Amino acid sequence: MPAVDLQRRAEHAMTVCNSCRYCEQYCPVFPAIERRQAFDAADLAFLANLCHNCGECLYACQYAPPHPFGVDVPRTLAEVRLQSYEEYCWPRVLARAFHRQGVWTAIGLASVSIATVFAVTRRLNPSALDARTDAAFYAVLPHAAMVTLFGSVGLFVVLALAIALRRYWRAIAHDDTGATWRVWWCALREGVTLRHLHVASHECVSAEESRTPWRRRWHHATLGGFGLCFASTSIAAIYHAMFGWEAPYAYSSAPVVLGTVGGVGLTVGPIGQWWERRRRDAALSDPGQGGLDGAFLLLLWLTSVTGLLLLVLRTQALMAILLLVHLGVVLALFLTLPYGKFVHGLYRLLALVRDHVERQASR
Ligand code: SF4
Ligand code: SF4
Repeated sequence: MPAVDLQRRAEHAMTVCNSCRYCEQYCPVFPAIERRQAFDAADLAFLANLCHNCGECLYACQYAPPHPFGVDVPRTLAEVRLQSYEEYCWPRVLARAFHRQGVWTAIGLASVSIATVFAVTRRLNPSALDARTDAAFYAVLPHAAMVTLFGSVGLFVVLALAIALRRYWRAIAHDDTGATWRVWWCALREGVTLRHLHVASHECVSAEESRTPWRRRWHHATLGGFGLCFASTSIAAIYHAMFGWEAPYAYSSAPVVLGTVGGVGLTVGPIGQWWERRRRDAALSDPGQGGLDGAFLLLLWLTSVTGLLLLVLRTQALMAILLLVHLGVVLALFLTLPYGKFVHGLYRLLALVRDHVERQASR
């Protein structure tokens, strides 16, 4: 849908909500609507990322389709949310990447990344693929090459995310007044626990008469798994850089235990989320975002599965191939982070911070 049409439709929905106010107890979105009399693009981007797409307000709404007002807040805000990712991303020329993602794009990108990692490795080390049973990862791809490859991509990803978030924050907040450490902590806690995903009960809505806790549980498994895998990689990097302890690490070591538990979470969480998304009422979501969600979940799942396989088979002859496949998938995941579903958690955190600041100011 053209941006102007979406903006007009979102303004219309917010204006009706502002008059109606029936849902004001549901979530922070409605009190935030009430603090405004008009809704420009930045206001809508703020409200859209504050919404957790719980879906309750659609089924409560007397003005929802087929009513002529056609108010569908969850879907409208989901569409604005996707548009906000494009609007503030850096470099802007890659904004369309949000729309072009899908499962096949993810598979293609992962294939290209894997091929690139294989080509670089073979060039640096012609005997890299020789069968070996010593789990010596750096004998396949030297540590310096691994750090150079992932460090440069990682720096670009951090820069792209930082610029995008700065642009978004500047648009919705104008300055940092009121954003204290306490506010950041409260927003982080609400974001991580998905507090506003359950506005009417502890269950998540999948259809008008269907509520289960599974959407939240799968999300927690995915987020927790991602966090543990990140912690595992960080500790391994500290081991190597500060103590000179090289991989592979024992099965009882912190990097392996954290990576294994995180990998299991990252394996079951994305499958569960994908399943919940399939069975959810289509009226609650933006159909244009299905590919974005699917691509991100697939890359997370491939990262965890290849990582767990590498862990289990690290002393087998297949180790070198598994290592390079895993690194290729991780590289593809890294490259899509600033232009994929990953950004939703960061934008939501900033929207929660802004909401806390506004609430404090209006007391
Ligand atoms: S979603 Fe519907 S019922 Fe809820 S405040 Fe908006 S117009 Fe009113
Ligand atoms: S979908 Fe849920 S979180 Fe979003 S505006 Fe409606 S009630 Fe609030």
